[in-house]
Amino acid sequence: MALTCVLATNNGHKLHEVRSILGPDVKILSLFEINCTVKPDETGKTFEENALLKAEEISRYTDFPVLADDSGLCVSALGDRPGVHSARYAGPEATDLDNTNKLLVELEGIENRSAYFVACICLFQKNLPPVFFEGRCHGTIRKTPKGRQGFGYDPVFVPDNLDQSFAELGEDVKNHISHRAMALKKMKNYLLDNFVE
Ligand code: IMP
Repeated sequence: MALTCVLATNNGHKLHEVRSILGPDVKILSLFEINCTVKPDETGKTFEENALLKAEEISRYTDFPVLADDSGLCVSALGDRPGVHSARYAGPEATDLDNTNKLLVELEGIENRSAYFVACICLFQKNLPPVFFEGRCHGTIRKTPKGRQGFGYDPVFVPDNLDQSFAELGEDVKNHISHRAMALKKMKNYLLDNFVE
């Protein structure tokens, strides 16, 4: 029987990616499916702190184990910004396009385009210590956006050893090599090793 967890996100793209990456062994319930309309605070200074804040908050509304993903883009020439501020880089109501445009303006004239995505997944179960899983995906930032798939900074991020952006490569490729895929594979192995007889 599949393990069931709640994913602490209001981001439909993340929900879709997490379900595709985990496959049928882990059933993922959305916040909508548990009738939860809460938007957890993300006031932490690290990906780990934010993942824990989200997971803890949502665990008040369910008895299922909760998974929370906090992720972002770290750009070398910008001292690892936008980092934990990736979702609201261009302001509190910023869209993906606003954030990407701000990034491209900041990188104008800069040769070093190295960057990496980070995903920190927190697995939160009542009466057990939280467990964290991290994944990273290294690449470079394009000078102009390309591709229509994915979300966030996907149109400007080209993973190492490939020559197309995440938004051009599409979900099959992205879900094999992404930061989120790396973190979730570690978490799935942990769940299967510890909770399935
Ligand atoms: P969070 O929901 O606070 O974890 O925000 C994560 C933000 O980081 C997203 O809104 C995107 O801007 C960016 N991000 C994280 N993962 C990805 C990805 O896989 N592709 C593109 N952008 C991402």
